Amino acid sequence: MGKIKKFIKYYGPYKKIFFMDMLCAFAAAGVDLLFPVVVRFLLNEAIAKGGGASASLIIKIGLLMLALYFVQYACNYFVTAWGHIMGARMEYDMRNDIFNHLQKLSFSFYDNNKTGQLMSRIVNDLFDISELAHHGPEEIFISLVKIIGSFLILLSVDWRLTLIVFAFIPPMAYFAFVYNKKMRSVFMRNRQKIADVNSQLEDSISGVRVVKSFSNENIEIFKFNKGNLEFLHTKEESYGYMGKFFSGVTLFQGMIYVITIISGALLMRTGSVKPTDLVAFLLYINTLLNPIRALINFTEQFQKGMTGFERFLDILNTEPDILDSEDSIEINEVKGKITFDNVSFRYSTGKYVLDNINLNVEPGETVALVGPSGGGKSTICSLIPRFYEATEGQILLDDIDVKNIKLKSLRKNIGIVQQDVYLFAGTVMENIRYGKPEATESEVIEAAKQANAHDFIMELEKGYDTYVGERGVKLSGGQKQRISIARVFLKNPPVLILDEATSALDNQSEKIVQDSLEKLSTNRTTFVIAHRLSTIRNAKTILVLTDNGIVEKGSHSELIKNNGEYANLYYAQFMDDDEMSI
Ligand code: ADP
Repeated sequence: MGKIKKFIKYYGPYKKIFFMDMLCAFAAAGVDLLFPVVVRFLLNEAIAKGGGASASLIIKIGLLMLALYFVQYACNYFVTAWGHIMGARMEYDMRNDIFNHLQKLSFSFYDNNKTGQLMSRIVNDLFDISELAHHGPEEIFISLVKIIGSFLILLSVDWRLTLIVFAFIPPMAYFAFVYNKKMRSVFMRNRQKIADVNSQLEDSISGVRVVKSFSNENIEIFKFNKGNLEFLHTKEESYGYMGKFFSGVTLFQGMIYVITIISGALLMRTGSVKPTDLVAFLLYINTLLNPIRALINFTEQFQKGMTGFERFLDILNTEPDILDSEDSIEINEVKGKITFDNVSFRYSTGKYVLDNINLNVEPGETVALVGPSGGGKSTICSLIPRFYEATEGQILLDDIDVKNIKLKSLRKNIGIVQQDVYLFAGTVMENIRYGKPEATESEVIEAAKQANAHDFIMELEKGYDTYVGERGVKLSGGQKQRISIARVFLKNPPVLILDEATSALDNQSEKIVQDSLEKLSTNRTTFVIAHRLSTIRNAKTILVLTDNGIVEKGSHSELIKNNGEYANLYYAQFMDDDEMSI
């Protein structure tokens, strides 16, 4: 019940539209109900004793009928336009709510939810919810008014004919309900199948180079055809049900008409039913059948909309793992001392990745983290800005537990350069300014210069106004990286994390990026994760991290002297590089 209450809450700001909508829906239904009554009256008058009603009365009734239709037009306009507008506004509110909440959710949420699925879920669910929001109440209301209204009016005309007509309604409703359900469930399967076909299509287009290099076109065609055929079969099945559903409902409708006409004709022979009564009945059958269909559709719509809303609430009710504590503080003039005090960590799924880490990094010092992949280097770094929370122990910035610092304030003081650079759709200027939204143009340009990015930016067709991002110009990996470094220069944080920032680059780009990174890390506490050990030789402290924790710690020359894990890694790479340069 809780979810229906929450659903109703979204109507709150639109109460006035909602009530007007209901009123108009009621009036529009009322016109449909009145129409046969007026027709019956008109016919009765027209064929009344002698010459029948005067022409002026007939014209007046005609004008009344026209007026009714104009009223219905106005009401239908409101219901259609403003009903949808209300639904759209509710959808807008929900979309904003979910987006705002998504911004608050922690990394762990995104680890467990795939981007594509999350996006299509939100888009589809919101559509279903908004459909239910504006059609739902209106449809139930109109349908009930019409069904009950027709029943009462018909009853006042002739109770025997009314019972005959209504005796057919339950079996027809049952038939329609069952087939509608079958049809919809196949439609759902259809949706799934076409999603499979589409993802197969996307996969083989994105991976076309791999497909061709292995000459596996035939395998791809076979896989695609299998999915495509399954889609065709479910589609054929759904059309089978669709045929039965629509023709079955029409058959029932026909049967009701025939029975009513025959029974009416039989009753007319006895004089207890007038021809005009029969006309009214025939007109009402239509008024009655439409709302029954609408109600059946509604059950389906309600189910879909509520399932969507439940999933919507699932996201909205997911509490962010990492929040500001009540007495958290802002920090200013941060020096950049970082301390790990008995820190252990494991992701929500899985075993401990870090076990009892102790570390003290003085302001301005550079610490390099090396070791085999999966050893926990990125994990250590992601604990500093509280992307994840240490399971045990404390991490301190300038001797303050990071848990006691306001998240915004903490993250403002930490800059991160990663291997994967994400540029937003927008200009180069906007992308760099992301590091400090209030920065002036000259500050942006200065940051770009420091990041060795200015020159190549000036060579782009529109300089700083060039569009980048998914649909923008294609930049090389090194160029993107330099833009991301410019962002961090602009942010100017005292603590820096460089997570494999040069790993994906070729030798030449690496040198330029490495040069800008060295400038960036001057006078900042820096954590460097580097695949190529040559890039960290100058770090004051090198930590070797393996599954067994920090196994070695010292400067390059100390660790080489030790002849342990680091020396092994170093020589192995040195030999590789040597071979490559021959
Ligand atoms: P490194 O940076 O040294 O390659 P990571 O810190 O990325 O190592 O990973 C350490 C371990 O934690 C690995 O076993 C990895 O599979 C696991 N891991 C990394 N990220 C996550 C995550 N988001 N959820 C669960 N496990 C993770």
